[in-house]
Amino acid sequence: MSNTPHTWPRLFIQEKLSTGELLTLPPEQSHYLTHVLRSVEGDSVRIFNGVDGEWRAMITQCPVGKKKGLILKLIEQRRQHESIPDLWLCCAPIKRAHFDFMMMKATELGANVIQPILTSRTQIRESNSERLRAIAIEAAEQSERLSIPEIKPALALPDLVEQWPAHRLAILCAEFGDAQPVAQALSGALARARPSAAILTGPEGGFTQDEMMQIKALPEVLSIRLGPRILRADTAAIAAMSCWQALCGDWQNRDFHTRPDKIANAEKE
Ligand code: SAH
Repeated sequence: MSNTPHTWPRLFIQEKLSTGELLTLPPEQSHYLTHVLRSVEGDSVRIFNGVDGEWRAMITQCPVGKKKGLILKLIEQRRQHESIPDLWLCCAPIKRAHFDFMMMKATELGANVIQPILTSRTQIRESNSERLRAIAIEAAEQSERLSIPEIKPALALPDLVEQWPAHRLAILCAEFGDAQPVAQALSGALARARPSAAILTGPEGGFTQDEMMQIKALPEVLSIRLGPRILRADTAAIAAMSCWQALCGDWQNRDFHTRPDKIANAEKE
């Protein structure tokens, strides 16, 4: 068993976490640990549930038989829960492979909520929340997040605009019209004063003029240009979220979360 914690497997579970608690993993997670990672009794696993930070657990029983789940014993909390910036991604569903990629990257880039929006040019009208959530969970496990983004059911754009949350800055990705260059827009007073923001990207065919006007009628909105080229929607979402995190979000923090190896290396630099 490795004694370097960041090599231990990392799993999201739904149960409450407290010292000494015994947890039985569901079959798919048990199978992953025993048959893919070849974990054995005594091995450590990192566990998080989105509210109680990250814990070290130890595999205490590897029952034989596919139906039975591994038993883990919670040993100690290793990381306190940390809140992350309040960033939503409101995105028109696009072709499956690209949308799956977008979900993965939005999770790595710290989206708190992913809200699929149905616009007049959206070709993919349904989004399978369960499948998207599974992609987000895997990306959260890999990126060492302590939370999972909430994947909301798809909403038609007019309904989203109608129920737009007060005090949430809308950041419209617009490849044409009067959009401001992204760095200028997100360095401005409004962007920096609003801790709650939502980035909006259109479908492969883009937003219509009328849809842009609906979004621009929201109480607080910035229209941003992501350079002179037309980006795929997934590229635009990644670019816009990266710029927001760098200028308004948690990419300004230097501190690594409590990973002694990370801190030790940083101090040597
Ligand atoms: N209308 C485009 C295709 C839309 S691209 C075309 O003529 O082919 C899909 C989405 O990505 C757009 O709705 C917009 O939200 C975003 N996007 C693409 N390029 C962008 C850019 N340069 N600046 C800002 N947003 C962009």
